[in-house]
Amino acid sequence: MSNYEIETKCIQSGWKPKTGEPRMLPIYQSTTFKYDTTEQMGKLFDLEADGYFYTRLQNPTNDAVAAKIADLEGGVAAILTSSGQAANFYAVFNICEAGGHVICASAIYGGTFNLLGVTLGKLGIECTFVDVDADEETLSKAFRPNTKAVIAESISNPALVVLDIEKMARVAHAHGVPLIVDNTFATPVNCRPIEWGADIVVHSTTKYMDGHAMQVGGAIVDSGNFDWEAHADRFPGLTTPDESYHGITYTKKFGKAAYITKATSQLMRDLGAVPSPMNCFLLNVGLETLPLRVERHCYNAQKVAEYLQAHEKVAKVNYAGLPGDKYHELAKKYMPNGTCGVISFELKGGREPAVRFMDSLKMASIVTHVADAKTCVLHPASHTHRQMTDEQLVQAGISPGLIRLSVGIENIKDIIADLEQALLQA
Ligand SMILES: *Cc1c(COP(=O)(O)O)cnc(C)c1O
Repeated sequence: MSNYEIETKCIQSGWKPKTGEPRMLPIYQSTTFKYDTTEQMGKLFDLEADGYFYTRLQNPTNDAVAAKIADLEGGVAAILTSSGQAANFYAVFNICEAGGHVICASAIYGGTFNLLGVTLGKLGIECTFVDVDADEETLSKAFRPNTKAVIAESISNPALVVLDIEKMARVAHAHGVPLIVDNTFATPVNCRPIEWGADIVVHSTTKYMDGHAMQVGGAIVDSGNFDWEAHADRFPGLTTPDESYHGITYTKKFGKAAYITKATSQLMRDLGAVPSPMNCFLLNVGLETLPLRVERHCYNAQKVAEYLQAHEKVAKVNYAGLPGDKYHELAKKYMPNGTCGVISFELKGGREPAVRFMDSLKMASIVTHVADAKTCVLHPASHTHRQMTDEQLVQAGISPGLIRLSVGIENIKDIIADLEQALLQA
């Protein structure tokens, strides 16, 4: 970890060229790496030496970007994956297998909800969804002897619930399990969950980190702080010999790097959700300007939230930057410089005005995406949650008129002008 400030890390961390090497991170578009002797390559397979042999396991471009993200989050190591979904899957599956149980925030990204609630169930992993706003005593009731992790988002997509990270870490640690925080919306620029007790941080790098909607990717960062050996019975995958890797015990051989080494040498080896070096290069370009973009996203979103709140056709605005918002105090504590550029709001009259409003937008585009440079909107009732009835929507905390607005980094005057003319049509 370097001692630089976050803006400097975004530029300087990761790729460290030696004399005469390219200043810009090169794209090592190669599946394989050459060695002079059989012995040299054998040592790599035994994890006895550092080096590259096959891009599914490690690639210099990918590793430089992983190192940058680890530094941004204040972790000891990171692994990049081909999507945020793969990052969430690996983060859990690395420490939880059939017969295990995890606890997950109920306000969570839809893909993560399905992954944990349905697909991991087919692999024999059970999940209990909890309201993260509950007190510690209530949360404690969800734990079982076979619980392996607690998973939550620092700012949830799309509900915009802000997590009390210290509380969640305390409850998880009291039960001997790590806290995994998906920090996609806040980004390490606005929030670094490890500083508040989170053990593992995951990202969909597809969103602000990339920032230009160019690549789909994910990352897992390990703080190195969770003491797997102290809970050895609960995490045998890390604390007992891995027969598929010459009987290596990850905690004994790799210490603080145990968790990420296992994710690389076991999960990536066998499941293979590796990002392409080209995509990692693009992600790195995005990361260089992340602090500038995040600052502008937050500035613009705050202005838009205030504008909407004062508008006569708007029934409700959810944005933690607003003083009256349910999560304003938590946001001030964990994200004092701002939360993110995503807000949600409801128009009076529900579904029909929402559709008229969205169809009238001229600049903001209707896309199934959030958190990049371009302002965009999504109507959950017509899109992501289309199959649900109005009653089911309300149960899921999504009213039929709810609009998710991802405020971009265009000039604020143009964004508000577009909203204004569309609100006239709503
Ligand atoms: C988008 C998203 C994901 C999934 O990431 P992909 O890169 O689309 O696979 C996971 N978590 C959060 C919070 C997200 O916003």
